[in-house]
Amino acid sequence: MGATRRLAEAVALSRVPRPSKAAGSLLVSAGRLHDQSAVAVNPPVHRASTFLFNTLDDFEEAGRTPFDGPFYGRVGTPTIFAFESAMAELEGGHRTIATASGLAAISATFMAFATQGDHVLVVDTVYEPVRRFCDRLLARLGVEITYYDPRMGGDIERLIQPRTKLIYMESPGSGTFEVQDVPAIVAVAKAKGIKTALDNTWATPLFFKPIAHGVDVSLQSATKYIAGHSDAMLGAVTTTAEGYEAVRRATQDLGACAGSEEGNLGLRGLRTLEVRLRHHEASAFEVAQWLQVQPQIARVLHPALPSFAGHETWKRDFEGSSGLFAFELAGFDREAVHAMVDGLDLFKIGFSWGGYESLVLPVDPEKTRTVAKHTGAGPILRVHVGLEAVDDLKADLSSGLARLR
Ligand SMILES: *Cc1c(COP(=O)(O)O)cnc(C)c1O
Repeated sequence: MGATRRLAEAVALSRVPRPSKAAGSLLVSAGRLHDQSAVAVNPPVHRASTFLFNTLDDFEEAGRTPFDGPFYGRVGTPTIFAFESAMAELEGGHRTIATASGLAAISATFMAFATQGDHVLVVDTVYEPVRRFCDRLLARLGVEITYYDPRMGGDIERLIQPRTKLIYMESPGSGTFEVQDVPAIVAVAKAKGIKTALDNTWATPLFFKPIAHGVDVSLQSATKYIAGHSDAMLGAVTTTAEGYEAVRRATQDLGACAGSEEGNLGLRGLRTLEVRLRHHEASAFEVAQWLQVQPQIARVLHPALPSFAGHETWKRDFEGSSGLFAFELAGFDREAVHAMVDGLDLFKIGFSWGGYESLVLPVDPEKTRTVAKHTGAGPILRVHVGLEAVDDLKADLSSGLARLR
């Protein structure tokens, strides 16, 4: 038996359900080769396009779909299988498929369930590049898209058409953090035989469990909290047993596979996910509470604040909040906002979030939304609260707010 086969079997072994543990314990050991002695603590990085087989029988065996072990690099390497196995365990799903980015995981999910003439429902507060994928590529392929209000819950039933195949959720919504009534939407979808998918990047599987809430496909931009250090692009799509084949085929056909280095960074990130996330949570909540009482602020958009519109739903369904939220200024023009943001020291201007560092970006929900119109007093800024000392972060924002005048 070749070394590659042994590794494949060991990774498969690590998928065997083990006694249930708290998330923190699971995060430390998931994806390891549990049946072997004297292995490195961290699964090694396997860089490979080609795997060699001793016999044609071995080759044919490895090529059986769904792929369970090394066959060709695009299908996965032992490093990728280790990351996938850890994610599946954490999500409580059947299997996880690693992809080149969060967006690759999302576009593959749409391609898995919708074809020409079908109809999909997509939340209006969706991450903007997903909207671009829908309006450009998906629409061109003949799929009809209806954007729905994130606050509609079970009322989504009246938007369902005979050819509706997928309800795509993201909760909380991008930029403005509307929390959806996922159980109500899932109940409608199940009654009608419609698949559901949810972008769970904000909460991660630590703070929200889509599969346990009846969702068929849980999506992660592992670029964010999973990798956690702003140095990798990685996606993860986790499905129920029923949804697995369709998503696996779509990711294979699209070819946007994750690289081994990135898979390794994802797996490494998982080890510290809980401590990082709880620190982000505590600091962000403290900053949000502090912002709420500053005179320059009209409203803080953070699901864990009791004043926030979606707070009760968040409290019912989620086990925590993360480091990303937004606030709306009480008026102020472009020039004032630029003066505030340009002078910030710890909050840097940049895309993405979920790394250890603090970030800030303007949000303009009016630009793209068609249903859930946002009416506010002034410009919105989205912040990611990093792992810096929280008093320094408040001081940075405080001097920023002073520059608004
Ligand atoms: C960043 C992000 C994505 C896309 O992930 P990439 O890894 O950047 O492709 C998807 N959904 C949400 C909510 C995101 O913030």
